[in-house]
Amino acid sequence: GMDAGGRLLEDLDPEQLAAVTAPRGPVCVLAGAGTGKTRTITRRIAYLVDRGHVAPGQVLAVTFTKRAAGEMRTRLRALGVTGAQAVTFHAAALRQLRYFWPRVIGDAPWELIDGKLRLVGQAANRLGAPTSAESLRDLASEIEWAKASLITPEDYPAAVTRARRDVPMPAEQISRVYQGYEQLKTRARLLDFDDLLLHTAAILEEHSDVAVEFRDRYRCFVVDEYQDVTPLQQRVLNGWLGGRDDLTVVGDANQTIYSFAGASPRPLLDFPRRFPEAVVVRLERDYRSTPEVVALANRVIGAARDRPSGSRLRLIGHRPSGPEPKFSEFDDEPGEAVAVADKIGALLRNGVPASEVAILYRVNAQSEAYEQALAEAQIPYQVRGGERFFNRPEIRQAMVSLRGAVNGASEAGLPEIVREVLKPHGLSLEPPTGGAQRERWESLLALVELAEELDSVTPGADLARFVAELDLRAEAQHPPTVEGVTLASLHAAKGLEWDAVFLIGLTEGTMPIQHADTDEAAIEEERRLLYVGVTRAREHLWLSWSLSRTAGGRRHRRRSRFLYGLLPEDHPAARTVGGGAQREAAPTRRAVRVECRVCGDTLLNTPAIKLGRCATCPSDVDEELLDRLRKWRAARAKQLRVPPYVVFTDTTLTA
Ligand code: ATP
Ligand code: MG
Repeated sequence: GMDAGGRLLEDLDPEQLAAVTAPRGPVCVLAGAGTGKTRTITRRIAYLVDRGHVAPGQVLAVTFTKRAAGEMRTRLRALGVTGAQAVTFHAAALRQLRYFWPRVIGDAPWELIDGKLRLVGQAANRLGAPTSAESLRDLASEIEWAKASLITPEDYPAAVTRARRDVPMPAEQISRVYQGYEQLKTRARLLDFDDLLLHTAAILEEHSDVAVEFRDRYRCFVVDEYQDVTPLQQRVLNGWLGGRDDLTVVGDANQTIYSFAGASPRPLLDFPRRFPEAVVVRLERDYRSTPEVVALANRVIGAARDRPSGSRLRLIGHRPSGPEPKFSEFDDEPGEAVAVADKIGALLRNGVPASEVAILYRVNAQSEAYEQALAEAQIPYQVRGGERFFNRPEIRQAMVSLRGAVNGASEAGLPEIVREVLKPHGLSLEPPTGGAQRERWESLLALVELAEELDSVTPGADLARFVAELDLRAEAQHPPTVEGVTLASLHAAKGLEWDAVFLIGLTEGTMPIQHADTDEAAIEEERRLLYVGVTRAREHLWLSWSLSRTAGGRRHRRRSRFLYGLLPEDHPAARTVGGGAQREAAPTRRAVRVECRVCGDTLLNTPAIKLGRCATCPSDVDEELLDRLRKWRAARAKQLRVPPYVVFTDTTLTA
């Protein structure tokens, strides 16, 4: 109806309006962060549907992350559009495969695996390639890159040379493991994520009846974040289009952050050449952020060395002025985390909703200190990106092994049995030093701690009971009960926005990440990642870093190279390069302290607490205390990946 159509055109600037109301056919929006690209495409879909140009069911809108797809669906729903598909490339492909597979392949769809590591490990093992956890991850990401780039195992070595790609081991060896992996997978009738796209493209290319049916169904295509399209995704998109041109793409070449995985802004930048009749729109006004944040974003991206042609857009802030971005340096990471939690507490007291605050980091392993600090400050939060404890691949794999061991277990104590079962999963006695391996280790250890807990609460509980307990917990963790502060990686934050954003851990080795150091292109991608981070903030933006990892540890971390040129001139850290800067004092840390009622000894951060016993005297900790402890743990366990064993009271300790 015309009324709704009128409303759909409200609050659009002339360029946005041109893209929204362009006739069906190729449309390309090339524009910076926060300029309204996602708004423009969702309005366009709503407009085309509202005017009867297309039926909602004929629209297929795709993007790259689940969150971004969710964001599109939310906005479409708000505009009153129902029945239009807004999904990730993978979800679209999975859905189509389920539908066409029985007809084309002739049996039940193969099973989808959600990680490559196990099969890559088998292939590497057979071929005598390195099989450390580290090497397997490297191999898996090389295979992912190759598949996303449409490179076969045979072509891999030549492609590596052509792309001047830094490879973690000899290209011939990777090529053989890649081939072995594909064989094992096919023999076992399994599909990985990339196969979803490969099969979809192949079916559309080889089965004209399927292609005809598909193209009859979907007629209007939209791609958000098009700068991150891979050749494989482009091939699927071409299969969907089948020579038609009803395609709207929007993107920002400066936000290309997946080129390590084969993504390229080329198709975005070449779009006007590929479709000479396309409506091409450039947006420059930033509607998301204050001019202060916009100025910083311009500075971040202004320093980029390899800006692809056509991406030289400067953002122009369009919102009222706000606070200057803040830069804070800390002695150590726990101090940084506590300070961030403190500032968030202040924001919340000032009426900023928790759901309007985000802490963004480079790698997921960084979340732990912040989860801890937020939990201590009793600030609700959620970790974004499918990383909730029972969703993590290592925990899912561990659960499979635990289930498998239920009947064979010897009734040894439950924690020992669990430890034994988890050993092959990477639960070494000594914690690995860092990175994903450490993260994995911590998660596995958390399972042992849960076993210890169950064992102490219900002595004699067996493995079956433990597994049932874990299932219950997994169930309970499922829907987040409160909208809290968001913790997310920079990659997962793309396309989203918050009133207040904390960019943490801005040190060399983390941001930019260590392995980018040898490669200028990789450093530039890290810079774009920082740009993505900065442009998530509407109003408040804090950038912080700390010079050592542990409290009182050696201060051997260096500030991120990206900070120079961003720090205001009067910032102490701007003057002194490398130490001696005046650092922010970490706020005092409020902790809960518990005393044993029998011997009066203080229990603080002692493992004995977990077992409900005093560390000093043999008496059981009294019921009231245990009850408090359980409640506190239960509240925290809902949010934490790693179950806590520190008990905090209102006593004040200095950090
Ligand atoms: P990104 O590159 O980060 O994905 P984007 O270009 O997709 O950003 P949007 O998320 O669509 O930007 O818009 C950013 C913010 O600006 C949103 O809150 C949106 O509602 C708002 N906005 C966009 N266009 C306008 C406008 N014409 N008037 C007022 N607000 C607008
Ligand atoms: Mg967007």
